[in-house]
Amino acid sequence: MIFLDNAGTTKMFEECVKTYSFYACQEYFNPSAVTRKSTQVFSALNETRNYILKKLGACEGTIIFTGGATESNNLAIKGSMRGGDNEYVFSSGEHPSVLNVAKNLAQQGKNVHFAKLGKDGRVDLEDLKSKLNEKTRLISIIFVSNETGAVNDIKKISAIRDKFAPRALLHIDAVQAFMKIPFQVEDLKIDMLTFSAHKFHGPKGVGGLYVRKLSILKNIVDGGGQEYGLRSGTENVPAIMALKTALEKIDVKKNFENVTKLKEKFNQTLLEESGIEVLDFKGSPYIESLIFKGVKGETILHALEENGVIVGLGSACSSKKQGNRVLEEIGIKKEDIVSSCRVSFNAYMTEEEVVRAGEIIIEVYNDIKKRVS
Ligand code: PMP
Repeated sequence: MIFLDNAGTTKMFEECVKTYSFYACQEYFNPSAVTRKSTQVFSALNETRNYILKKLGACEGTIIFTGGATESNNLAIKGSMRGGDNEYVFSSGEHPSVLNVAKNLAQQGKNVHFAKLGKDGRVDLEDLKSKLNEKTRLISIIFVSNETGAVNDIKKISAIRDKFAPRALLHIDAVQAFMKIPFQVEDLKIDMLTFSAHKFHGPKGVGGLYVRKLSILKNIVDGGGQEYGLRSGTENVPAIMALKTALEKIDVKKNFENVTKLKEKFNQTLLEESGIEVLDFKGSPYIESLIFKGVKGETILHALEENGVIVGLGSACSSKKQGNRVLEEIGIKKEDIVSSCRVSFNAYMTEEEVVRAGEIIIEVYNDIKKRVS
């Protein structure tokens, strides 16, 4: 099987499984208890926090461990909300774990604005500027689109924040960026950042929120006060420690170069078939979309699975719904959206694998076209 849905999730590293097992079955102590064993586990969690801060290039702040990016995004937005006439700004290309929170806020009567996407799949910066003012409390923007792979210019967005909304906090959903594309939080002047372990070969159901200052946030769950009082509940120690193992294994720069080559090779293979269009926003090398002229994406997806290749249908979280709102917003034609699939790589694939996947995709597409016509 060739798995080309790595933006949906990734296979866990064997080393992570070992770490998970160690902290689940041997060092399984509750980090909040006061025994020596528990204190050691508590220290291991704190070392992991510091290690993540280093990987993020953060000089200040901390990490709140969560049950994944959906929870981190909810905490970042709901936890930084304040009363009064504060305003909140999002892009319309956000993942549902941000977009649906934003829509609910709007329904509750909060002052919520959405910045448009440009044809290049990135946030339209002029439109963003027009949505900002002195009352803006939060700007929440996706780093790399999980749908298109388009990469937002966070440095520019941060500078726009400084100029047009100096009071605003900047939250970045970096799920498809962290451990995939090189960046430094300090350089980008980010206040909060969301990440999720299962997108970089760690376990599912664990992630975190980087927060530059704890005072930015209020808790959204009441309980025993773990994670600086911001995320009560016993920490998922085995998963957090396995997340650390994944971080230790990954060389972001080397992987980036490797995936760039893999994507090029894959696209070259597809060039041999004129009916398949590559929707490549020249963004992250990890993600792109393919349009299969005249055939439904869903039909291709199932036929490919029968032939040992797994691709995605837009965001897995929304793939059971019709259409794709991000591609629509960018101006991709309806018939092309219906004919699209998302392809996403991981850095540990081989050139032979992606070339073989390309060949199978061409064969399957031609076979379906023959049957349909
Ligand atoms: N944000 C983005 C950009 C994502 O791609 C995803 C996963 N599809 C999420 C948030 C949600 O992540 P999780 O599965 O960890 O809740």
